[in-house]
Amino acid sequence: MSPKPAYSVVVPVYNEEAILPELYRRLTDVMEGLGEPYEILFVNDGSRDHSLQIMHALHRQDPRVKVISFSRNFGHQMAITAGLDYARGDAVVIIDADLQDPPEVIPDLVAKWKEGYEVVYAVRTEREGETWFKELTAKLFYRLIRRITNVDIPLDTGDFRLMDRQVVETLRAMRERHRFMRGMSSWVGFRQTGVPYRRQARFAGETKYPFNKMLKFALDGITSFSYMPLQIATYLGFGIAALSALFIVFVVIARLSGLQAFAGQATTLVAVLFLGGIQLISLGILGEYVGRIYEEVKERPLYIVSKTWGVEGPSVPPHAHVVDVSDSRRMPATDRKEKQENAPQPQ
Ligand code: UDP
Ligand code: MG
Repeated sequence: MSPKPAYSVVVPVYNEEAILPELYRRLTDVMEGLGEPYEILFVNDGSRDHSLQIMHALHRQDPRVKVISFSRNFGHQMAITAGLDYARGDAVVIIDADLQDPPEVIPDLVAKWKEGYEVVYAVRTEREGETWFKELTAKLFYRLIRRITNVDIPLDTGDFRLMDRQVVETLRAMRERHRFMRGMSSWVGFRQTGVPYRRQARFAGETKYPFNKMLKFALDGITSFSYMPLQIATYLGFGIAALSALFIVFVVIARLSGLQAFAGQATTLVAVLFLGGIQLISLGILGEYVGRIYEEVKERPLYIVSKTWGVEGPSVPPHAHVVDVSDSRRMPATDRKEKQENAPQPQ
């Protein structure tokens, strides 16, 4: 076993071949400057380009680079989850591969950690090279989620953060499927603080978060931390019932006084369609939650590891549902034979 590193840097990677060499260079510069042993954990999230080959080459030239490769694309949040499962450092840094999070901020995160904070998140004060649409939706989303949840998720933070071993172990015990890691790492508590930074433009390539993925991510964030959407149906129900009661009184009075108001089909049709719409929306919201419960009870593994280089495997809590079928996890052939020989014979 290699000596236990002080720092682990977890990098989720999905089709980032154009960026990896530069990322490695800048990360190494920064990490070496810290003067303590470290590891860089690349989690290959089912890339279809040459990312994996590049990571392998980096691992061969520098054993501090370790690689965990998924059997397919499981998503950014799962890649981070796997990184936390395999990381061995006393402090773990999560950083995007695309250099939007500058590695040069890591020493600032480390300094705060040394002051005694267990979670140090990086707060973007500016975003460069993002579309106005992404900037606006992100801004609105973080403000919305802050209002409707009772978790204190700091504004304008992403997953770029440093976490102490204690926090990492806590997060590792949380095996929920729809993962909003930045919310979860606030939920756990401990002493938390932020460090401001300027979010850079992507170094190369394009975003791996198209609109539909972003929407799903936002829904995961909201449903993981709030029942508010479910309560909307209740509030609407009470509101509409109260209005209708008033309306009944109004219609009776209008009729008795001989007014010809609200006669005709259009009124009925509009009322029925309006309520039908509201009911369908409420059902849909219910569906979002029921679907998530369904996924949760299936208890499938969160991700499947098909290949690893350099890692020693996760120290898995028994309920963790980690599937690692990579070669390195396979029993050596001799052990397997022995095991067969020692197996109890059928009577
Ligand atoms: N990523 C991933 N799996 C995915 C999508 C993205 O591992 O399915 C990685 C990606 O390689 C990058 C990070 O997650 O390191 C953030 O993705 P991206 O930069 O595309 O998101 P954005 O910054 O545009 O929100
Ligand atoms: Mg990015």
